[in-house]
Amino acid sequence: MRAYLPDYDIQSPETLDEALTLLSREPGKWRPIAGGTDLMVLLNAGRLSDLNLLDISRLTELRGISENGPSVTFGALTTYSELRQHPAVREHLPNVVESARVTGAQAIQNRGTLGGNIVNASPAADTPPSLLAYGAEIELVSVRGKRRVPYESFHKGYKKMDLAPDELLHSIHVPIPKGSGFHFYRKVGTRQAQAISKTCLAAHARIENGVVEELRIGLGSVAPVPARARSAEAVILGKAVDFLPIEDAVKAIQSDISPIDDIRSTARYRRVVTANVLRQALEELARTGRAS
Ligand SMILES: Cc1cc2nc3c(=O)[nH]c(=O)nc-3n(C[C@H](O)[C@H](O)[C@H](O)COP(=O)(O)OP(=O)(O)OC[C@H]3O[C@@H](n4cnc5c(N)ncnc54)[C@H](O)[C@@H]3O)c2cc1C
Repeated sequence: MRAYLPDYDIQSPETLDEALTLLSREPGKWRPIAGGTDLMVLLNAGRLSDLNLLDISRLTELRGISENGPSVTFGALTTYSELRQHPAVREHLPNVVESARVTGAQAIQNRGTLGGNIVNASPAADTPPSLLAYGAEIELVSVRGKRRVPYESFHKGYKKMDLAPDELLHSIHVPIPKGSGFHFYRKVGTRQAQAISKTCLAAHARIENGVVEELRIGLGSVAPVPARARSAEAVILGKAVDFLPIEDAVKAIQSDISPIDDIRSTARYRRVVTANVLRQALEELARTGRAS
């Protein structure tokens, strides 16, 4: 059943201070809404139980992409289209660009935000694996001030986050990888475009003198939260690219994931395909390492 709109109240503050004051006065009462591409689906289905919406789309403090020395900072309201077009993101963070490219279609990319993708906290979201692969940090803000947390520790369980009711996601900081490095992003869905992922894997590695000195692998759709493939990473770290124990890593990734059967796929399919995608990533890593 569709929602009855007059039941809803919406406030549209013009400054971050105003928004944070409202959140702190009545914590838990106001549900932030940014691009609305997740929330409007719930509203349309009559499943949005929060009747008080805080429209944060006018808060310029949450907008913009900037390159600050060692990292690129994204305001929480950064859209997918902005991610795709920004020169610094295209130059340094190709996995972020690719994750934005495969998210929805043009209309969603123009309206949906990076902050909304993170706080919606779907395990199948497309940007989180790329943020995990780059070791991103996120910055949260409230009337009490700002705090920064590693993105990896933000998701505490299915739809549970390290986010207080009076806090907003302010920005996302992604360290710029040193050197040319290895970047890999692969989303597997029912179709090439406009499908939610069945499994998703992003990786970033730094190779020095033919050895894998740094490696992070981020996963989507295979656990209750976006997750790192720590066991698979440990198998590969410190190894020479000429002798990567790829099949050992492929075995190890099975203990990093806990996929389920759902409407989009089965746990078995997800296990097999995640292993195949990892194999593909590591074979590419070996080729890149040999060529560099
Ligand atoms: C047709 C369609 C296709 C889609 N395809 C994909 C896809 O391929 N891949 C994918 O990952 N997603 C997809 N989505 C989901 C959605 O577009 C993304 O998750 C989007 O990034 C959400 O951003 P938003 O600004 O629209 O969020 P909103 O709907 O405004 O909010 C989402 C959640 O985040 C919270 N929130 C938003 N911003 C903040 C903030 N700054 N601080 C605190 N809380 C905040 C809101 O309270 C809400 O809980 C699709 C959606 C649709 C409708």
